[in-house]
Formats: sequence, C-alpha cells, structure tokens
Amino acid sequence: MLTTAYGAGLLGIDGFIVTVECNSTKSLPGFEMVGLPDTAVKESQQRVETAIYNTGITGSDLNIKINLAPADMKKEGSALDLAIAVAILQGKKVIPKECALSDKMFIGELSFSGSIRPVRGVLNMAIAARDHGIKEVFVPVQNAGEASVVDGVTVYPCPSLADAIAHLTGRKVMTPAEHRVFDEADTVSFALDFADVKGQIKAKRALEIAAAGGHNVLMIGPPGSGKSMLAKRLPSILPPMTFPEALETTRIHSATGLLSDGTSLITTRPFRSPHHTLSAAAMVGGGSKNLSAGEVSLAHNGVLFLDELPEFHKDVTESLRQPMEDGRVTVTRAGGRLTFPSTFMLVAAMNPCKCGYFGSKTKQCTCKPGEIRNYLKKISGPLLDRIDIQIEVPALSFDELSVKQTAEPSSVIREKVLAARKIAKERFRDDNITCNAAMTSKEIKKYCAIDDKALTVLKSAFDSMGMSGRGYDRVLRVARTIADLSGSENIDMRHVAEAVSFRTLDRKYF
Ligand SMILES: [Zn+2]
Repeated sequence: MLTTAYGAGLLGIDGFIVTVECNSTKSLPGFEMVGLPDTAVKESQQRVETAIYNTGITGSDLNIKINLAPADMKKEGSALDLAIAVAILQGKKVIPKECALSDKMFIGELSFSGSIRPVRGVLNMAIAARDHGIKEVFVPVQNAGEASVVDGVTVYPCPSLADAIAHLTGRKVMTPAEHRVFDEADTVSFALDFADVKGQIKAKRALEIAAAGGHNVLMIGPPGSGKSMLAKRLPSILPPMTFPEALETTRIHSATGLLSDGTSLITTRPFRSPHHTLSAAAMVGGGSKNLSAGEVSLAHNGVLFLDELPEFHKDVTESLRQPMEDGRVTVTRAGGRLTFPSTFMLVAAMNPCKCGYFGSKTKQCTCKPGEIRNYLKKISGPLLDRIDIQIEVPALSFDELSVKQTAEPSSVIREKVLAARKIAKERFRDDNITCNAAMTSKEIKKYCAIDDKALTVLKSAFDSMGMSGRGYDRVLRVARTIADLSGSENIDMRHVAEAVSFRTLDRKYF
C-alpha cells in the first residue's frame, strides 16, 4: 500500500516541502529509505519504529520503503521523523485511509517514548507549507509560537505521536494555536535603557547621530569605561522593527536553531556580540557540513558589536567587507551555495593602546610609541573606511559617577532619531537609499552642499588633521545627519564642526 505525508526540509533560511512516500507490503519485513537523507535522517528509522512501538502500536511487521522527494535536495536533521511515522501509520491502517493527509504537514523529531521534540526552522517550514497551499501544520509544542505567526495555516502544537494519532483518527481533537498578530508595542520594549548610563554625554550623542543616520561607529576608550554598556543600548534607540523586518530576522534565528522555546517573533533589533576568537566561517556563515547563517546574518536588521576590535583575526574583519557592502552574504561550501541577508549597523570598540591607558587621566600608559602605532595598525583599513563615526569613551571621574541626575531615556532619544530618519527618507525618495550613511559621492554632492563658513571649518580640520578624501565624505555624511537631527535643511558650520569632532583616529593618532 502506498501512502504519502508532507514534511519539510531547510535550505539556508528557506523551508521546502518534502513528500514522504511510504510503500508497505506484506513481504519479508524490512525498512529502507531513499532520497538523499543525511545521517540524522537515516537514523530516523530507529526513532520512528521505537516511538511507534512505545505508543502501543504493534501488529504485523511490514516491508517498508520510504522515498523522500524531491530526490535531489539534501534532507538534514530529524524534523522529518513525524511525517515518516504518519506515512507508515497510514500504511499500517492505524490512521484510516479516509483521513486525508494531503492538506497537512508534519514537523518534529520523535523520541523513543513517542514524544515530539523541537527542531530548528519551523517558522520557515510553516511559510513553505502556506505557500504550497497546505492548510494544517503539526509542530512540536515548543515551536508552536513561531509557526503561529504564519497567516493562513492552522497550527497544531503536538506533544506526542499518540496525540497526533488521536487527532487524525478523530478520537481526541487537538486545540490549534492562536494566530500570533504583530504588535507594535513589542517593538519598543527593552530591558536596557540609556537612562541607566551615567555621564558619557559625548558618546551618547554620537550614538544618537549614528542611529539617526545609520552610521557605523568605533568607540575608543580604556577598559571599564562603559563601551559595551553603551553599545548594548543602541537597539533601544533605533527605529522600531517593521513586521517584514521582524519576520526575516526571526527566520534567520529559527533556521539557525537560536530561537528560545515558545518564542514567536523577534520584535526588537538583535544585538550580536561575537568573541574575537571566532572564525571567518562563524562570522559570515557556512561551515563544512551544514550551511548555516553567521554572525553578520544573525545581526541582520540590528547591531553587530565587535569588542576589542584589534584582537579579531584579520581574515575575520576582512570577511565583513562583502556583507557590509551588499547587505547580504553568499557562502559557498562543499554543501552548496547560499545567500543570507546581512544588513546591520557595526559598532566596534577598542582600547586606545595595548595596555589600555594611552591618553588616560587616571592611569599611566606603559606602551612605547611604536607599540601604540602597531596596535592601531592591526585594524583592517577597509573596515575603518566603512566607519563614519569614531569617538573617545573616557573613564568617568568620581563626580560623573556620583551624579544623581537621571539621564535621557531611550524613548526620548528614539523620537529624535525617528524624526531625523523621516527627513532622510523623504529626501531619498527617488534615490534608492534609506539613510545618510548609504550616501555615495554622487548623493553627497547633491545633498551636502555647505556654505563658505562651514567650508572654512572643514578646510582647517583637513589641514590640521591631514584628513583623506574619504575622511571628507565621512564628515559630510555625518554633518548631514546632525543637520537632520536639528531639523535644518542646510548644513552649517556648527554641524560640520561637530562632525569633525567624530574623527578621533585622524585627529589624535595618525
Ligand atoms: Zn598603553
């Protein structure tokens, strides 16, 4: 008897339909599986047979052949267990022939006891189901949240194989999960707030400008001055996520297996802070066996924070170039070739020198001049080229630390950021860019005209700092954002002067 059930596979961040065909006959008992299964899928025979047995289903042993179609797509992991079990059970007539499986998809790993374990990529698979016209999706209980985001499918959180059988035979119908609607209130709910950060007025102002213009930032300061504390709060002042952004970010995290149980949508911008020992493959994605998303994609629509920037291997920082330029990254490995989205804001932090205290008022730097230069040389030039804002984050004095006054909360800063972004969006309506940081020389010429007074400020900065032509563009981009924040159409000398102050490295070190 030939039976069919739908399961799903995962290719990068896209789910695809897998048709599980089961041919069961009464000839010599046996089990065979074809259709490019990996080791985990091959092992599903053991899990499926034991789960069926422990669910109390015995009876005649059959000869079972399973075909996973399409045959040319590699099937990975254990998510097909449930679909395979259901196809077999219909072959065994435990699930009656009359029960139509053609509008249902089954996702989940089976344990020996028959309970259903969570798997990665359920959101992506449920989207594939919907796009394929499948009406009902049976998923592990822990993954029901993410699946319930998908419009147009009924999601059944399924605790065990026994529950699936009871439902399909009509003995005990399960309750579907409630459809999860995107709620804008969730996009502005943050555990960390700028109100908690004392002092650091200049650094906070720099992050406000960075958020408003989408500029990448480098923070330079001694250990313990609060660089990561500031960076972690950046998502709280960025524009709230839209539904398509939330969905895309969640798809990446779901496919990578990083959604915590029960999560439905990631509604706040992600903050990723990989350690400096990570490999280039972990940064941009890939891997020898499975092709999975890297840190640049996990930070998609959010912030990628690189603490102790000079400590990162050069090949890792250089690998950021393509994803930063294109907003997506293509990884090629033995397993194939895939593209992942990677639009993020980069925030990097570093000590001013090897010992950490160059230029510090509180502690003496013990580095030799040559060592300071070598330390800074470790930063990749092409990466530095993509950073518009550089700021110093000095250690706070006792007076600043003991001040009682509360700082400006993130919600207030976010309003200013939103107002500036609105101005930029309106300006770029015909330009195919969305923020000031994305302006190329062409747009800079068009939108960053400055008057004579401002030009004088810029020229004297140039002469005294020995700024490069690229530095010039960066100052103008930031000056444009500062003007937008103050609601000014023209860029005047104050805007330029403030923008120049965010070129710490040019000014102080080179
Ligand atoms: Zn030092």
